[in-house]
Amino acid sequence: MLIATLPGDGIGPEVTEQAVRVLKAVTGDLLTFEQGLVGGAAYKAAGHPLPEATLDLARRSDAILFGAVGDPDCDALERHLRPEQAILGLRKALGLFANLRPAKLFPELADASALRPEVAASIDLVIVRETNGDVYFGEKGHRKTADGLREGYDVMSYNEAEVARIARVGFETARARRGKLCSIDKANVLETSQLWRDVVIELSAEYPDIELSHMYVDNAAMQLVRNPGQFDVIVTGNLFGDILSDQASMCAGSIGMLPSATLNSSNQGLYEPIHGSAPDIAGQGKANPLATILSSAMMLRYSLGKPDEADRIEAAVAKALAGGARSPDLGGTMTTAQMGDAVLAAL
Ligand code: ATP
Ligand code: MG
Repeated sequence: MLIATLPGDGIGPEVTEQAVRVLKAVTGDLLTFEQGLVGGAAYKAAGHPLPEATLDLARRSDAILFGAVGDPDCDALERHLRPEQAILGLRKALGLFANLRPAKLFPELADASALRPEVAASIDLVIVRETNGDVYFGEKGHRKTADGLREGYDVMSYNEAEVARIARVGFETARARRGKLCSIDKANVLETSQLWRDVVIELSAEYPDIELSHMYVDNAAMQLVRNPGQFDVIVTGNLFGDILSDQASMCAGSIGMLPSATLNSSNQGLYEPIHGSAPDIAGQGKANPLATILSSAMMLRYSLGKPDEADRIEAAVAKALAGGARSPDLGGTMTTAQMGDAVLAAL
C-alpha cells in the first residue's frame, strides 16, 4: 500500500518523521512511502503550494500523511499561492468530505484539560463534520440595502445526497465504536437543519443497531462542557462542526495531542494533526509528535483496514505517557525525537 507523505512547513517535517518511524515499526514492509512537496515548501521549490506532481501522488496513494502548512514568508502572496490553499485543493480534488476528529483525554494528562478532572476523564467521542458544503460553499456576497446600508450574505444549503453521505459515515463510525450517534442541527429554526434531520432519520432504518439521538447545536455546546461522557459519535454540518470540534479539542488537553482524518467515499483519507505549522517552535525539536502519531493510527483504522495495528499505536502512546514522556507543551523537556523514541520503546 502506498502512503503519500506530505510534511509541509514549520514543525510538519519534524512530527511527520516520527509518525513514519512508528508506522514502519508497526507494519513492517507492508507500506511504501513516497514524499511530496506541499505548502510554503512547495511554493519555494516549485512555484505552487500544491504542485501537479503532489496531486498525482495523492491520487495514486491509499492514504496521505500530512504534516502542516503555513509559512510566514508567504504571508504577502496572492491568496491562490498561499500555503493554506494546498489543503483546500487536496480536499476538493480528492472529494474529502468527512472530517473525523476524536477527542479523548489520556488519563495521565488530566491536569491539562480545561475541564474538571472527573468531567474531562469521561470524554471519549468522535466528531464527524461535513467539509464540502454548508454556508462556506453557498452563494455569498455583499450588496446595498434599499436604504443604502452595506449588507453581507452567505447562503446555507445542503441537498439530501450530501446529508445522506455524511450521515452514513456517522452511522458507520458509531457502529465501529459504542453504537451511539447524536446528530446535531438547529431544526427548530433552519430549513437546512429540518432536511438534515429528516434524511438522518430516513437513513437510520438501515442502522437499527445504532442508538440515534438529535440535539440542537446550542444545547450541544452546553452538553459538551457539562457532560461530554454522554457522547460517542456526533455527526453535524460544516459550520456547527467547525465550532464544536474546536470546543471539544480544548476539553482534551494540548493541541499537540489531537489527530484528525478526512475521508472520501472510497475511504481514502488525509491524516493530519489538528495543529498548524507552529513557526514559533519550528526546527527546535520542541514539537509534540503525538498528534501526528495518533493520526497515523487513524490511517491504519479508517483507510488501511488494520484496526489491531491502530490499537497498538494508541496503546503505545498511552504507555509512553504513563512512563512520563512529556514534551514542553505537556510540561516536560523531551524533544520531538525523544517522544518518538518513547512510543517506539512502548511498542
Ligand atoms: P497555522 O496558521 O499554521 O495553523 P497557528 O499559529 O494558527 O498556525 P498552530 O501552528 O497550531 O497555530 O500553533 C498554535 C500554538 O500551539 C503555537 O504556539 C505553537 O507553538 C503551539 N503548537 C502547535 N502544535 C504544537 C505541537 N505539536 N507541539 C507543541 N506545541 C504546538
Ligand atoms: Mg491555525
